[in-house]
Amino acid sequence: MFKVKESGLFIDGQWVAAGPLLEVKNKYSGEAIGALPTAREQDVDAAIAAAQQAAPIMAGMPAYKRAQILTRTAELIRERFDEFATCIAAEAGKALKFSRTEVERAISTFGLAAEEAKRIHGETVPLDAVPSGEGYFGFYVRRPVGVVAAISPFNFPLNLVAHKVAPALAAGNSLVLKPASQTPLTAVLLCEVLAAAGAPPGSVNLVVGPGSSVGEWLVRDPRVAMVTFTGSPPVGRRITEVAGIKKITLELGNTSPVIVAPDADLEFAAKRLAVGAYYNSGQVCISVQRIYGQGAAYEPFLEQFVAASKDMVVGDPLDERVDVGPMIAENEAIRIESWVQEARSAGARIETGGTREGPVYYPTVLTAVRPEMKVVAQEVFAPVASVIQVDDFETALEQANSGEYGLQVSVFTRDIGRVLKAVRALNFGGVIINESPAFRADHMPYGGNRQSGLGREGLKYAIEEMTNIQMVVIRE
Ligand code: NAP
Repeated sequence: MFKVKESGLFIDGQWVAAGPLLEVKNKYSGEAIGALPTAREQDVDAAIAAAQQAAPIMAGMPAYKRAQILTRTAELIRERFDEFATCIAAEAGKALKFSRTEVERAISTFGLAAEEAKRIHGETVPLDAVPSGEGYFGFYVRRPVGVVAAISPFNFPLNLVAHKVAPALAAGNSLVLKPASQTPLTAVLLCEVLAAAGAPPGSVNLVVGPGSSVGEWLVRDPRVAMVTFTGSPPVGRRITEVAGIKKITLELGNTSPVIVAPDADLEFAAKRLAVGAYYNSGQVCISVQRIYGQGAAYEPFLEQFVAASKDMVVGDPLDERVDVGPMIAENEAIRIESWVQEARSAGARIETGGTREGPVYYPTVLTAVRPEMKVVAQEVFAPVASVIQVDDFETALEQANSGEYGLQVSVFTRDIGRVLKAVRALNFGGVIINESPAFRADHMPYGGNRQSGLGREGLKYAIEEMTNIQMVVIRE
């Protein structure tokens, strides 16, 4: 499908050759689909230097021109729609139908960024609100931070890259992108498109290679003004240790809880939550993980959720009918297999699933789990959901809030009193009512509380993170 690219790093508007080759595989068949040269330390240095040179060009570019580049990027992704979708399905193992959704969303993300590029503004500050401010006129503007380092995960190789590249350019920054080593090919396609759309040389640079070396060289560099990272909590913590004084946005993990109250539409909840638990094999930061069935909802909900889980079509992600493909690597499927076995040995019941074929793990529903089991307490990041019986709504809220993560949570109920109580009680970046916690619209503020991260994405909010407030005071 893809040939070995002799030049896989994009630096200062040129495709350049560099270090040892990184082979990329089809995650279902294991067949090699591409190989890219990885960056050495001097290549990362050159990429940052190119971004630094392009920073004033981007900062001085008028908003309408930044918007034109982003609009053109969206158009060019649409022109290569099938190529992008197939690349995602092959390198990430994501079912083709969901890979297509990802491409559609990335087109929206660039389109939304083009609109936001035209409304970046500050506000006046009434300095005369204090005696010392009398006789002064004040306002602030938002200025681009400069060079942004963008580090992305494997699970959305296009749209989570778009959520970094698009707002960075919209805000007038330059950037160096380091995609996940499992899924760098989609990022290569995106850089081709950005260059064709008119992004100036050096405004977008791509370096491929291991996070522990290439990623850290980027994060440590004092020329980098901001790190925007999406990935696992341990790597997020590591970034805060090595970055030094620079802006940091972290989009990390979650153990997404859901409360299903007895007054909810149980059939609808079961169907939506099955999709939310299993799409992309549960490798989504907001995948459904802990479902609290309250009171009379528990039994009928469990029955319908198990049925919906069994309905999922498992297989080759390039097959149009498939809902659930492989996990990103066989060792990940082995990891979740052992977590489920461990839970089972400690008393959990497997209602459906619990089987593995190579890198494929079948949609699995657990009951009789305990809060300390890994499948409940840690991010499963696999097609496994637990259904937990609770007596009352207050206990459900307490249990949903438990743990260290706070990205998104959802509640299924038709009772407005319960909705308001949940919104006040739940310490999460997003509270979703009557939909799966895996819901995301690309322009909404998106990000986590507690150990789930720092800052927010969603174009307008990412642009706020990627700009500095500059205060202007004029003595009248
Ligand atoms: P990961 O292992 O943390 O990797 C993410 C990125 O960080 C990759 O590009 C990786 O490079 C790089 N990296 C690794 N070590 C690094 C280091 N020391 N310094 C700098 N960069 C480093 O995460 P993943 O397995 O790809 O993704 C799964 C995780 O992402 C899950 O925890 C999930 O919840 C989270 N996630 C969060 C969101 C959100 O919006 N909150 C969205 C999607 C995923 P290599 O690939 O070369 O290791």
